[in-house]
Amino acid sequence: MPIELHCHSTASDGDCTPTEIVDRALALGITSLALTDHDTVDGVPEALDAAREHSLRVIPAVELSCHFEGREVHLLGYFVEHRDPDFLELLKQMRAERRERIHQILEKLKAVGIELSFEAVEEQASGKALGRPHVARALVAADHCESVGQAFDIYLGNHGPAYVGRNQLSLEEGIEAIRKVGGVSVIAHPGTCRDWPRVERMIQLPVDGIEVWHPSHKKADRKRAKRLGGRYGKILTGGSDFHGPRGDYHEMGTSQVTERVVARLREVAVV
Ligand code: AMP
Ligand code: FE
Ligand code: FE
Ligand code: ZN
Repeated sequence: MPIELHCHSTASDGDCTPTEIVDRALALGITSLALTDHDTVDGVPEALDAAREHSLRVIPAVELSCHFEGREVHLLGYFVEHRDPDFLELLKQMRAERRERIHQILEKLKAVGIELSFEAVEEQASGKALGRPHVARALVAADHCESVGQAFDIYLGNHGPAYVGRNQLSLEEGIEAIRKVGGVSVIAHPGTCRDWPRVERMIQLPVDGIEVWHPSHKKADRKRAKRLGGRYGKILTGGSDFHGPRGDYHEMGTSQVTERVVARLREVAVV
């Protein structure tokens, strides 16, 4: 039976509402589903509700944007207590920082001759966790770009003229924040940082797992992630990073991960 440990809803930058995510998971025969929105758990109650009458386990989860050695790293947290007031406050601050960053991105776009309003970006988001994909969609809607991919290629990508980094939580603080709400932390898509010595320094932190199966990972990345995870005794996870059925998407439940991994995550979460 397929499971899904990495996907995004409209609570952050996905295209499907939490209910649509659950319906899709049910249609695909998925048995466990973690909703891992960027810096928010706002979609979790709706997903739990939508799954209530069905044989689908929804795992309250999150994908935190952290920094490590001056660069952004994503950290997944599973089985988090999504109602914890301190945790919710932390996430609220992270989203405020996201909004501030959008203003900075818009300033940079202006410097290269593109006028886009904050409202135009907000219109592309139904949740409060604003991100570059919403700016990209606004650029497409205003005919500045032909596609979201092009918007990233020309302006918003990590080396583009409108790129603004994020520097809020350190990876250590992210791991601690997840642990404090009873969750299990996993380094997301380590292959995207293209620096395996750096990943090895990350994995020596008290993190619980590492994402091995991810659409951005080539075979060599999976091998390296698996080897590192094995060497340091970490849980090996994976997911599709589903953001919705448009463009070049990867379907939910297509990674190699099984219920055995969910059981491992749960074991670590309860101790
Ligand atoms: P942010 O959290 O605002 O930095 O945006 C990161 C998100 O942008 C990722 O989670 C992806 O959903 C999306 N993204 C990053 N790079 C690209 C790209 N080249 N094309 C399309 N979407 C991208
Ligand atoms: Fe995303
Ligand atoms: Fe990510
Ligand atoms: Zn993701």
